[in-house]
Amino acid sequence: MASVYFHIPYCRKACTYCNFHFSTRLSGFETMVEAMILDWNQQQLFIADNTVESMYFGGGTPSVLPYKLLEKLIDEIVTTKNVIADAEITLEANPEDITQQNLAEWRRIGINRISLGLQSLNDKELRWMNRAHDALQSRKSVESILSQGGFDLSVDLIYGSHLKSNENWRDELRWVQESGIHHLSCYALTVEEKTALFKLQHQSNNSLICDDHGSQQFIILTEWAIENNWCHYEISNLSRTDSSKAKHNQRYWQGHSYWGIGPGAHGFNGKKRRWNIANNALYTKLISTENSSLHYEEEELTAINNFNEILMTQLRLEQGVEINKLAEIVDDIVWKQWLMDSKKALEKWLFNGHICQTNSHLFLSGSGRLFADAITADLMLAVED
Ligand code: SF4
Repeated sequence: MASVYFHIPYCRKACTYCNFHFSTRLSGFETMVEAMILDWNQQQLFIADNTVESMYFGGGTPSVLPYKLLEKLIDEIVTTKNVIADAEITLEANPEDITQQNLAEWRRIGINRISLGLQSLNDKELRWMNRAHDALQSRKSVESILSQGGFDLSVDLIYGSHLKSNENWRDELRWVQESGIHHLSCYALTVEEKTALFKLQHQSNNSLICDDHGSQQFIILTEWAIENNWCHYEISNLSRTDSSKAKHNQRYWQGHSYWGIGPGAHGFNGKKRRWNIANNALYTKLISTENSSLHYEEEELTAINNFNEILMTQLRLEQGVEINKLAEIVDDIVWKQWLMDSKKALEKWLFNGHICQTNSHLFLSGSGRLFADAITADLMLAVED
């Protein structure tokens, strides 16, 4: 079984911290959807699988797309593939798009999970992030979705900004617990190049966003999850119950195949990665030219790339990475070399309690989650030039 990711490249405003691909010019939706349907049809040989288990509309802000166009995309998949009866179909949405009519139409066309971009419940912080909604809209949108019923609801929150005190963060988490939200994705605010935040951080002599503050708030998140019995099943993802874990994302982390449709979308078929050009005008133009391979690039993954990707994504999971599975990816010589090369690093991280090892798995401890990037970098296989 495989999954489909649609990238809907439009946003009302450019958030200060965001480096995803999107345009704030809200026009040309029909042309874009026609191009995405062409893209889907052209990618049929990329994955030799006829069954679809999940779809995910990400972006950008997919909730700005009229529901009739979302329906067109879903219908295209349903008419060309076997979509399983309980397929998870997620729509990323922003609070300003949550209306009774949209909710009813989204439900009608098959969307059964909403991933809501709240980011903060503090108006000052939301304005600083240049979000298009305020805190009241955030709270009301959650109430509307939950009272409408029929959706699993996930919300995104960002921690670590200078405008979010530890007390604010605890209050936001308390509200999540009381609200009935099913799933939570929490991201540390990071400074990405070519964003407004990058300039602000530079102007402040790197004093605006500080790693320690983010780490403290990650610890608060971890403690909150334990106190309230949430499953902290991936570093940035938590679910209220086992059944509310994100199915689509879990498939990515397990290394399953998915089509990536739309400008800037990435796909994976087990052997190759393929990614579309991140430019709306060029994507729609090139996809309909005679040489229909100009709008994307692809790369064959070597066993070493594959090994490193699995290590990087699965170490972030609560259960960690399965040692035998890692061994199966590379040949015997490379595996033995890795065991020798990583021995010292592994011993260091085991000794300071940041990583744990059972007979079958390697996984990060609670404290180790703060050092996930450094631990992964230490354990990766060197990529030959
Ligand atoms: S709404 Fe989402 S995708 Fe759009 S700019 Fe903001 S963070 Fe980025």
